[in-house]
Amino acid sequence: MSSTRIIAIANQKGGVGKTTTSLNLAAALALHRRVLLVDLDPQGNASTGLGIDYDQRARGSYSALMGEEEPTSLPQPSNVPQLDIMPANADLAGAELEMIDADRREYRLHDALQMIEGLYDVILIDCPPSLGLLTLNALVASQSVLVPLQCEFFALEGISQLVRTIERVRRAFNADLHLEGIVLTMYDRRNNLSALVAEDARSFFGEQVLDTLIPRNIRISEAQSHGKPVLEYDRNSSGARAYQALAEELLKRQHGKGGL
Ligand code: ADP
Ligand code: MG
Repeated sequence: MSSTRIIAIANQKGGVGKTTTSLNLAAALALHRRVLLVDLDPQGNASTGLGIDYDQRARGSYSALMGEEEPTSLPQPSNVPQLDIMPANADLAGAELEMIDADRREYRLHDALQMIEGLYDVILIDCPPSLGLLTLNALVASQSVLVPLQCEFFALEGISQLVRTIERVRRAFNADLHLEGIVLTMYDRRNNLSALVAEDARSFFGEQVLDTLIPRNIRISEAQSHGKPVLEYDRNSSGARAYQALAEELLKRQHGKGGL
């Protein structure tokens, strides 16, 4: 059995920090491990955030789902050492419809990743903001789910639906799937609401809320507009330090549970 950890980064809400967490956690993990980031959102923001040009996106996660190409040929190097990416392109927007009648439609990504997982220690999957067939493919292909929770009004709204989806996937497709953790994002220490959301999340999910808080930090969004992870853009920013701490926390937690 392979020792590669495959983690889906999912929350059906948009704008909660899935893509930001995917690409910055991937870059921070790449300081320690060989990492692949799969961009599974038709918006392609993770690909943009890692500086992948549009003309480099013809082959990527869409090709993997369609089984059109040899999966091992799909990852591309990013501008970060030890970090490869399987980019998303506009075709991915039609993939859910195209897969409806396909063979093993829930397992398309799983089947492709099985062919390449040996090349990596960790694979992160950036999910789109829905619980459709793309996210389902990510959950079926993964061992765990990392859920970013934005420290804002209604943060917990929709979480029970996500938890039910994870349970359904576990029963029907992937018995090993577990919750990697909840990561609180865009935390603002000057705003009482952030502290309240953190408290609510901890009383609801207990230990499953990770210790590392991702602060709201302008350097994080600036970095994305420059096509770089924040670690490359400003490694001393609070955002860069937080994503490094998150990577270390996950590596340590996994250690206890069998090692990342
Ligand atoms: P999602 O993928 O869940 O839709 P994003 O990761 O794209 O969410 O984040 C939504 C917006 O918030 C983006 O413009 C991103 O740059 C910004 N953002 C995310 N996390 C932070 C943060 N910690 N500090 C500042 N801006 C952030
Ligand atoms: Mg996104």
